[in-house]
Amino acid sequence: MKRLRLVVVGAGVVGFSTAVCIAEALPLCSVTLLSEKFSPDTTSDGAAGILFAAEFPDVPLERQRRWFKDSFDHLLAIAQSQHAPDAGVMLSSGCQIFKEVPANKTPFWSDLVIGFRIMADGELKRFPDHKFGQAFTSIKCECSSYLPWLEKRFREAGGQVEQRKVNSLQELSDGFDLIVNCSGLGSKELVGDAGVYPVRGQVLQVEAPWLNHFIRDGDGKTYIYPGIHSVTIGGTRQEGDWRLHVDKGDTQNILERCARLEPSLKKAKVLSEWVGLRPSRRNPRVERERVQLQGCMVPVVHNYGHGGWGVTIAWGTALDALELVRKCIQEMPQKAKL
Ligand SMILES: Cc1cc2nc3c(=O)[nH]c(=O)nc-3n(C[C@H](O)[C@H](O)[C@H](O)COP(=O)(O)OP(=O)(O)OC[C@H]3O[C@@H](n4cnc5c(N)ncnc54)[C@H](O)[C@@H]3O)c2cc1C
Repeated sequence: MKRLRLVVVGAGVVGFSTAVCIAEALPLCSVTLLSEKFSPDTTSDGAAGILFAAEFPDVPLERQRRWFKDSFDHLLAIAQSQHAPDAGVMLSSGCQIFKEVPANKTPFWSDLVIGFRIMADGELKRFPDHKFGQAFTSIKCECSSYLPWLEKRFREAGGQVEQRKVNSLQELSDGFDLIVNCSGLGSKELVGDAGVYPVRGQVLQVEAPWLNHFIRDGDGKTYIYPGIHSVTIGGTRQEGDWRLHVDKGDTQNILERCARLEPSLKKAKVLSEWVGLRPSRRNPRVERERVQLQGCMVPVVHNYGHGGWGVTIAWGTALDALELVRKCIQEMPQKAKL
């Protein structure tokens, strides 16, 4: 009997989350993940990985809350299990501080993280340039551990993995009945999406084991995130900038900005510097379509364009993508499902 053959393109946090959700939920299908790059060479690998989000303008807030909640609950369960160190997932407490009081004092995810509260004036004294703050416990998911952990889980569910660049969806129409596109910034070329653009981010890993709490400036450009082995400090948000090399000017600027928030960082040793391109889009594209490939209509499920929040909402959008895959399968002619 012929099994339905599904392919997931992309081995970042979105691709592997989606592949795991599909392979575990649909054991009768054959699922292959194809990707040009794998951990440690994806954008996801260098992300600070803190669960935190800004609003996408045109996605209903209820859907965004579901993406956040599904991801948070999934990672919280890992953080509270024996798998936490292997998966690189930990609870992380700290604060977000603002130079001006924001219009919206309670973000849409404030009741989805743990213990969200507005900071008291006394707590803000250590940040003389800032007038307002939010304290909460979130999760830090370090993709350099999480991606290999997800890959293992995918293989255990029967998934197959292949390293290859896909130049066009046409290439996949012979071998697969359904395509799931999680190619991030690669979607600009792969599916000709002109709405996808890079937002360059540079971060440093520093040795500062005395730091336990994260600090994020509300402008999103300066942050200090203690992790399992080192502290991630950043950053930059340079729209439309494709440069992948480290900019020494950015490094200096990051060190200065972070030391202003946390002076002890002047004593921290820089371990590494890294640049990644956030796969940005006005809204993430989590939808399905049917594409004519070599004379056949092939269902394609898209899941890309997560910008600066891909680690935060990967599991939630992966569950949405799984539902879209199920709908595509239900609509297939009976013969194709055998
Ligand atoms: C400095 C920085 C800090 C960040 N911090 C956070 C954070 O704290 N929290 C958070 O939630 N997010 C953060 N992000 C954002 C996060 O990294 C991204 O949203 C996330 O990595 C996107 O995942 P992805 O799987 O879509 O893309 P990627 O990780 O880029 O993966 C895309 C995959 O598709 C493959 N691919 C592309 N084109 C093709 C093709 N044609 N053929 C085959 N394979 C292809 C690539 O090889 C790759 O494997 C940060 C990003 C940066 C740069």
